[in-house]
Amino acid sequence: MYPRVNINIDNLIANTKKMVDLAKQNHIDYVMAIVKVFAGDINIIKEIINTGITHIGDSRIQNLKKFQSLTLPKLLVRIPMLSEVKSVIEYSDMSLNSELKTIVSLNEEAKKQNKKHEIIIMFDLGDLREGYYYSHSFINDINKILKLENIIIKGIGTNLTCYGGLVPNREILSRLVEVKHTIETNTNIHLDIISGGNSSSVNLFGTNEIPKEINSLRLGESIFFGKESSYSTYIAGFNHKNFSLEAEIIEVKTKPSYPEGNTSINSFGEEVEIEDKGLMKRAILAIGKQDVILENLQPVDTNIEIIGGSSDHLILDITNTDYKLGDIIEFNVNYPGLLHLMNSNYVYKNYLKK
Ligand SMILES: *Cc1c(COP(=O)(O)O)cnc(C)c1O
Repeated sequence: MYPRVNINIDNLIANTKKMVDLAKQNHIDYVMAIVKVFAGDINIIKEIINTGITHIGDSRIQNLKKFQSLTLPKLLVRIPMLSEVKSVIEYSDMSLNSELKTIVSLNEEAKKQNKKHEIIIMFDLGDLREGYYYSHSFINDINKILKLENIIIKGIGTNLTCYGGLVPNREILSRLVEVKHTIETNTNIHLDIISGGNSSSVNLFGTNEIPKEINSLRLGESIFFGKESSYSTYIAGFNHKNFSLEAEIIEVKTKPSYPEGNTSINSFGEEVEIEDKGLMKRAILAIGKQDVILENLQPVDTNIEIIGGSSDHLILDITNTDYKLGDIIEFNVNYPGLLHLMNSNYVYKNYLKK
C-alpha cells in the first residue's frame, strides 16, 4: 500500500539504548523519550519502553491516552490548557507547567480523581518560549504550589533552541542551577529532577558544559534521528536513516517545463518561480502537501528533482532516469517531514523489524 512511511524499529531500539548509555556517562539519569513525532502510534512506542528510558513524553494528551497500557510514567510536555485538566490528570502522571492558575486547577481535579499529580516547573532561560523567566521573581508562586495537597513538585526544567534558537552551554544552564538553589534555600523541598532541555543539549555530551546538577533531558530528535539540534549535526554511533517515504508514480509525460500563457498563483495561493528548462520528463506521485511539506523530502535517487506539487500531487523532474508508471520512488525524510507523515491518515505505516 502506497504512499507509505517505513519505520526501522530495530534501529530505533538500538538508538534509544545507546542514548540511555551515553546520557548516563554524562550524569543524565532520567532520559525522557519525547515521542510526539510518532503521532500517538503505540506500535512504535511499545518497542522502545524496555531500553532504560524513565518516562514517555508527548505534547498531546490524546497521544498519552493511547499509551495507557504501557507501564512507564507518562509526561505531558506542552503546558496544559485549562480546558483539558481533567484528561491531563486522567492520562498523565507528570506535566510541565508554568501557570499557577493551571496548577491550582490540576490540583482540584487530582483531588476529585483521588490522585497525586507530579509537575516539573518550567523556567525560561532566555529562549523565550514557555516558563517563568529565570531572573524574575517566582518564589511566591512556588510557596503557593507547595500548599496544594495533590500536586508534587518533582523538579524544574527548561526548554532551549525552540523559539529563540538559544543554544545551551554552561553559562545558560547554570541559570537553571541557580533557580534550583533559590528554590531549595527558600523552601524546605528537594528537587529530584533538573531537566536541562531537549536534543539541543545533547550537543554538550562529552564536554564540561553540563552542570552536574542537571540530571534529566527530554529527548526526541536525537534519539530517533541520531541528530543533536543545536547545530543539526549527526551523533556518531547512532543510526541516522531510520525513516523513509515511498510513493507511487501515477503519470509520466514529457512536457514543457514552463507554463504556457499568463500565470498568477498556485492552488496554495503562492506565487511560484518556475525555471524554463525546455522539454522535461516529469512524473507525478500520489502524495501531496496535505501529507507532507515537500521541502522536507529528499529523493534517495539523486538524479531526481522535486519540482513542486499541490494537495495530492508531487511533481518530479525525472529527465535523467528510466522510471515508469507504477514505479515507487523513495525519499529520506527529516523530523518535520516525519511528523506530518505520521499525522496523515492517507500514509500507510510500515514497521520494519527482524
Ligand atoms: C518536543 C519537546 C521536547 C523534545 O524535543 P527534541 O528536540 O525532539 O529532543 C522536549 N521538551 C519539550 C517541552 C518539547 O516540546
